[in-house]
Amino acid sequence: MVLIYIDQDNQEIKKASLEAISYGSALAKQLGTSAEGLVLGTVHDDLTTLGKYGASKVHQINNASLNHFDARTNSNVIAEAAKKLGATVLIFAHNINGKAVAPAVSVKLNAGIVTGACQLPNTDTGFVVTKTVFSGKAFASIQIETPIKVISINQNSFGEVVGDGVAVIENLAIDVPTSTLKITSVNKIEGEIPLTEASLVVSGGRGLKGPENWGILLDLAKALGASTACSRPVSDSDWRPHHEHVGQTGIQIAPNLYIAIGISGAIQHLAGVNRSKTIVVINKDPEAPFFKAADYGVIGDAFDVVPALTASILKAKHGA
Ligand SMILES: Cc1cc2nc3c(=O)[nH]c(=O)nc-3n(C[C@H](O)[C@H](O)[C@H](O)COP(=O)(O)OP(=O)(O)OC[C@H]3O[C@@H](n4cnc5c(N)ncnc54)[C@H](O)[C@@H]3O)c2cc1C
Repeated sequence: MVLIYIDQDNQEIKKASLEAISYGSALAKQLGTSAEGLVLGTVHDDLTTLGKYGASKVHQINNASLNHFDARTNSNVIAEAAKKLGATVLIFAHNINGKAVAPAVSVKLNAGIVTGACQLPNTDTGFVVTKTVFSGKAFASIQIETPIKVISINQNSFGEVVGDGVAVIENLAIDVPTSTLKITSVNKIEGEIPLTEASLVVSGGRGLKGPENWGILLDLAKALGASTACSRPVSDSDWRPHHEHVGQTGIQIAPNLYIAIGISGAIQHLAGVNRSKTIVVINKDPEAPFFKAADYGVIGDAFDVVPALTASILKAKHGA
């Protein structure tokens, strides 16, 4: 059985888990077995809807102490659940929580692991998983030979496959160890889609000259319903908050659309954004390296191009 870890935040299922279920379900079909989900804690979402993504069953450990993510507790509980259910393959989203628990689970189950997979495994003659390496510049194919296998999949590498199934919900009784973590407060940024979950991102670099000019970028993001990001020097200079910094040393994202405004496209920046499905670059320097990674490029001054783009989007949306 293929068991997919369904990650939750604030009792809501994370979008990345829907892709993980789709991937796990396709793999289960390939292996002639079932795809089943595992939810830790109580959630507000209707878990039967996870059947749409291919999960025939969802096992829920209905214990509210699991609502706050704790890598140590969660990895223990997931490993115990996998043993109890007889899972042979475990799938995680390669997001911040998946990165924290998948390796620990693989140790507990003595399972081979591939993190950051980008394709379904090739199971013709073994179990070979392909992943991206060198910040997405190359691929490595790795054979897993242990009876139990663990895979975390890169965001946006497989996509969500939506059908019309309905999952059966089953309560799973697992002893939950007492957490050694005590959460005293949670400070969340309200009103914004977290960058790692965003499908549209508008990002700015030093080409915008200063924080006082960010209005044109924010207007574009608002018109599109996009989240905002920035290059490292921008957050280092306190033009924008640090949680917007993307790149090798910042957040790594893979939205459907990434619009880069006044960003040169240094390799350290690209390392965090080059898995985006479509990249649009706006830069006044035709030699800017970012154009090599772009699907669409506009050579022009951001202060002319961005307001014109925003106006066209608003016109297309509202006909005004
Ligand atoms: C170890 C290490 C880790 C790093 N990690 C990261 C990271 O995680 N993320 C990251 O972003 N960087 C990172 N960097 C820094 C990286 O190397 C670059 O210095 C940085 O990405 C450059 O930021 P920028 O493109 O905003 O600025 P610049 O390189 O100054 O580029 C500004 C761009 O704006 C264009 N421009 C100027 N005016 C306009 C205008 N009016 N209209 C349109 N375009 C205009 C210019 O042509 C230029 O291409 C790292 C560096 C190191 C050494």
